[in-house]
Amino acid sequence: MQCSFCHETAIYYRAYSGKYFCIKCFKESIEEKVIKTISKYSMLNYGEKILLMVSGGKDSIAMLRILSKITKPHASEIVVATIDEGISEYREDALEIVKNVCNELDIPHYIFKFKDLFGYTIDEISNLKRGISACSICGIFRRRAMDLIAQKLNIKIVATAHNLDDIIQTFLINLLNNDLKRLKWNLPVHYETSIFPQRRIKPLSEIYEEELALYSFLNNERFQKMACPYMHEGIRSQIREILNKLEKEHPGIKYSLFHSAIGISKSITFPKKERKKCKICGIPSFSEKCSLCTILHELNEIKNNQVKI
Ligand code: SF4
Ligand code: ZN
Ligand code: ZN
Repeated sequence: MQCSFCHETAIYYRAYSGKYFCIKCFKESIEEKVIKTISKYSMLNYGEKILLMVSGGKDSIAMLRILSKITKPHASEIVVATIDEGISEYREDALEIVKNVCNELDIPHYIFKFKDLFGYTIDEISNLKRGISACSICGIFRRRAMDLIAQKLNIKIVATAHNLDDIIQTFLINLLNNDLKRLKWNLPVHYETSIFPQRRIKPLSEIYEEELALYSFLNNERFQKMACPYMHEGIRSQIREILNKLEKEHPGIKYSLFHSAIGISKSITFPKKERKKCKICGIPSFSEKCSLCTILHELNEIKNNQVKI
């Protein structure tokens, strides 16, 4: 089959648009889509500095490659940060991969460890608190870490590599959990106000996960393939399977859901509730102690009790 845009042989059929792509046209289509997404949601202005959170997985490495290419003409400076959660035999490989890509692209790369920021690694937490979901604590740490990193590096735009599939899966999970307050975090652009005001952007929001995988494959990209040992996806993998099956039978259905998710998330409002300040760290919080300080207090108690025994 021939590419729908040039005379080369096609290697990919994009079912939702009915178009065939050769390697070159496919890669260009992904990069153009990212440019369109950035402009559609007003993610960046000319010359703004961006902090990219790059874990070393295929999506974040693709984001780094694409943004380093497309932001140059707009004089935007890129800085990369990787969070080291302290998960042995998992994070080391990814750190090496990110370091190498940053060296190749001549982009500054910083590593921030949970251990330095909060006093614990995820391995230590999972040993201290058996039976707890490491991911729920990792999520609380990660959100605060992103605030602290942006503050430390004094960068007001923080990009993460969430793709379209991540966004619609998270949307459905939040709906199923009746967790409507989190819907706005999932938008392609979200303003974070807790410690350091930032614009959180998701430049890959409109790209399907399978197309990012193909983009990385065609670039012969090295990325971390090993899954985190604490990964327990539960409902997310079931939702992913259902959505992939629906997409196969009804091409474009994920796009429709994405647009519904954006519309619903934007329109939902909550009555303004007075926020106090966390009495430990001082960040705005709906309770006396924020979720991070609550979990750190609990971990310290367990640790102190163990020492006494
Ligand atoms: Fe953290 Fe869970 Fe992701 Fe592992 S799978 S990095 S523990 S959120
Ligand atoms: Zn072509
Ligand atoms: Zn606190």
